[in-house]
Amino acid sequence: MDIKKFKEIIDKSKSTVFLGGAGVSTESGIPDFRSAAGLYSKDNDLGYPPEYLLSHSFFANETDKFYEYYRNNLIYEDAKPNKAHLALAELERRGKLDAIVTQNIDGLHELAGSKNVIEIHGSVYRNYCSSCGKNYDVKKVLGADGVPKCDECGGIVRPDVVLYEEGLDMGLLDRAVSFVKGAETLIVGGTSLNVYPVAGLLEYFKGKNLIIINKTITNFDNRADLVFRDSIGEVLSGLID
Ligand code: ZN
Repeated sequence: MDIKKFKEIIDKSKSTVFLGGAGVSTESGIPDFRSAAGLYSKDNDLGYPPEYLLSHSFFANETDKFYEYYRNNLIYEDAKPNKAHLALAELERRGKLDAIVTQNIDGLHELAGSKNVIEIHGSVYRNYCSSCGKNYDVKKVLGADGVPKCDECGGIVRPDVVLYEEGLDMGLLDRAVSFVKGAETLIVGGTSLNVYPVAGLLEYFKGKNLIIINKTITNFDNRADLVFRDSIGEVLSGLID
């Protein structure tokens, strides 16, 4: 059984890192951006492609419309951590997982209890004033009528989320790279690995065991020691039984 082998690898591994994509949260009801059922294939009545709707240009030029779209499509306040998030949090508690690097902006790893989470694309739960830097929670964005404005200075409050056309936070990326570099075991889940930065991060992995869990084929499957094409929640919860 592959899961038995997976368990043995994790038990023996001195350092394990999880690198995750949108597929980790689809089992919590949050749509993947790029899969057939994802946001990209969803019609929107604004008449723009979703990439533009989540771009810096759209945010800067049509902030009110940006927020209309963002509030309806990117914030899932009622989403709950699924078996994958919970299993990863449990592995960390048992000292079997050093870090989670995620592309997701939904905050579900923290909600599941994980402590060392590197959110390379930010989080919808953190927001800040683009003028004075004051921090705001997600209620500020959800509760605003139109564009959320800063209570202190009246500046526009923006999500701490990396939009298209914007660069990644280099400090966070460096931390992610150093965890991947230092890992003996890397578990990659819920990503087809054809988008940067995750695909790029994988290039830094020099450890012993690469495990891929994804419903579709990835470009790295032939390099992996184990490949699971099953539900990520099922596979990861098999590790903590
Ligand atoms: Zn302000």
